[in-house]
Amino acid sequence: MTTYGMVIDVSRCTGCHNCFLACRDEHVGNDYPPIAAAQPQSGHRWMDVQEYERGKFPRVRVDYLPLPCQHCKEATCVSKAQGGSVYRRADGIVVIDPEKAVGQREIVLSCPHRVIFWNEAKNVPQKCTFCAHLLDKGWKQPRCVEACPTQALVFGDLDDPDSEVSQL
Ligand code: SF4
Ligand code: SF4
Repeated sequence: MTTYGMVIDVSRCTGCHNCFLACRDEHVGNDYPPIAAAQPQSGHRWMDVQEYERGKFPRVRVDYLPLPCQHCKEATCVSKAQGGSVYRRADGIVVIDPEKAVGQREIVLSCPHRVIFWNEAKNVPQKCTFCAHLLDKGWKQPRCVEACPTQALVFGDLDDPDSEVSQL
């Protein structure tokens, strides 16, 4: 068995947005049925690098929090969706079916982490897929993880006790 997971070391994140850009490069304009419809040109942040300012001028510090879908074990997006349109695969990846979820705007609000975005043109909710279309072809990690220059994103098999992600 394989259960995919990601650990994000926020202390390593420099806010470079490479992960966000790699996600856009992979998904904007590209359909990957039955995993995901194409991401629109603007408005979506499937890997959302959030910024938090701390302190007061002149002693200000910015921390970064890269926030993709958490691929929750008990996912409210799965339980709230109609007709099995959001489901958790055997490998732990939570997928929004781009055909079955058409018109279900309420799925956007079902996520407590606010990582689901509405595609106005396609009339469908969308989010991070852990690049499942690539993993299914034998890739070892999603594009965002590959693009991170500081190894802030660690991806792997949580069922393998020796994997880096399990060790972390
Ligand atoms: S969309 Fe939200 S609720 Fe659903 S798996 Fe991702 S983080 Fe969890
Ligand atoms: S690529 Fe890595 S360092 Fe850059 S914003 Fe993303 S997680 Fe942070």
